[in-house]
Amino acid sequence: MENDPYRGTNPWSLARYIRNPECPCPICGGPTRLTVDLVPGPDGDPVLSIFSRCSPCGKDTEMTAEVLEDMDIVVKVASTGEVHETDMESYGIRKDIEKTCTDDSEGKRKVLSLEGRLAGRLAETRRPAAAVSLGKKVIDGMVALEDYDGAMDQAMATAAVLSDKGDYEAALELYGSLKQYAEGNVSPSAIAFTLAHAFALFSSGDTKESTRLVRETVTATDRMKSNGTIPEKDRLVRSRAYEALGVLLSAKNDKAGSMKAMKKALEDSQDIVSKEPSEDGLKWVNRCAREYAFSAFQADMKKRSVEALKDSVKQCSRFKDTYPSAYCDALLQRAMYISDSGSDVPPYLRGDMDEVISMLNTGKDDGRFDPLLPLAYFYRSMTGMDKEILDGNDMGKAYELLFRGVSEGFVPDSTLIPIASQYVTYLSKNDKEKEESVRKELAALGLFLGSARYKP
Ligand SMILES: [Zn+2]
Repeated sequence: MENDPYRGTNPWSLARYIRNPECPCPICGGPTRLTVDLVPGPDGDPVLSIFSRCSPCGKDTEMTAEVLEDMDIVVKVASTGEVHETDMESYGIRKDIEKTCTDDSEGKRKVLSLEGRLAGRLAETRRPAAAVSLGKKVIDGMVALEDYDGAMDQAMATAAVLSDKGDYEAALELYGSLKQYAEGNVSPSAIAFTLAHAFALFSSGDTKESTRLVRETVTATDRMKSNGTIPEKDRLVRSRAYEALGVLLSAKNDKAGSMKAMKKALEDSQDIVSKEPSEDGLKWVNRCAREYAFSAFQADMKKRSVEALKDSVKQCSRFKDTYPSAYCDALLQRAMYISDSGSDVPPYLRGDMDEVISMLNTGKDDGRFDPLLPLAYFYRSMTGMDKEILDGNDMGKAYELLFRGVSEGFVPDSTLIPIASQYVTYLSKNDKEKEESVRKELAALGLFLGSARYKP
């Protein structure tokens, strides 16, 4: 359709992206509600009817939505055509930027850090092109102030937005333009940057250069360990380098090499975290254990897989009261390994998931839930009587939670879709009527599974 302000975006999806329980009022700036309804347009196709309904000032303002050429979504005040910031957090950051004086370098640094945060927020609120252009401005500003670590951190965030948009070439170019600051640099930012750069190169097919970069980083962190110069700020830097090597070698189908690297990553992290436990540290160990287990499984050493995962559950259970979320994570990583490897479902899986569900099922006041909870239901659904038979109730519960999260905008579509697809496949064999109603409710959110399209 010509002159389509939504550029082909499904209006139900667009409505869901824009609907917002807390938006700055265009008149008084106070928190207001942005309501979005679908009404028939001039040619019968649905169009969005958007209003900011403010209780502090009592005014309703009509708004319009547009999808720009680069697919960013903007909302405008209908009467003036002025673009309006509808995200409360971005609105606040913009105010802080306006208030900051940039006469000295301290003020300039502060603005750059605020703009970096704003760029992150823009990406999260479906304005990726604006996020990239602001991110690049921040990078240039940081380079000018010789804050190379800051520039590399921002470059990683901006490259991630570019990759999400499918613009891998631009992401690679961005890494290339800053790599001079990472060479020979062993700061945590430089190491993280080099590893991220290596993965971007690998995805583009340059396996030689990516392997060289990762191996160099591994050597550098080995040297740091023997010199005693591992930074306080990131004790796990060596484990991260080995984990990256393990992932890379696994992608190159070097099973033995990958297992060896993952073992190093796991042992190094276990050693550090046992001395300085933290939630993030324990979760990193859990992840290394799962990846090591998977590489051992692929190399036909299943016994080692089970042992490694058992160890990480044991380590986290010692800190169950202080870091309950790390303990749940350990149990879920073990379940993920069982699911990914297609191993037989062990008898303890059900008990593991019962425990995670009872720990996470606390019900927050705002109706939100721990993002790990639907996963626990999903993994528990694998513990039916027969491993081919999933438990429909647990699948349904996982689906229901994620569906609510997506409707209310705190769970991304990409988390719901794979679970919804499996649930619909399950229903198609067991409950046709329920299948139809699930497809209908998904369609009302603008989500269509497979080729079957439902037109409400
Ligand atoms: Zn108002």
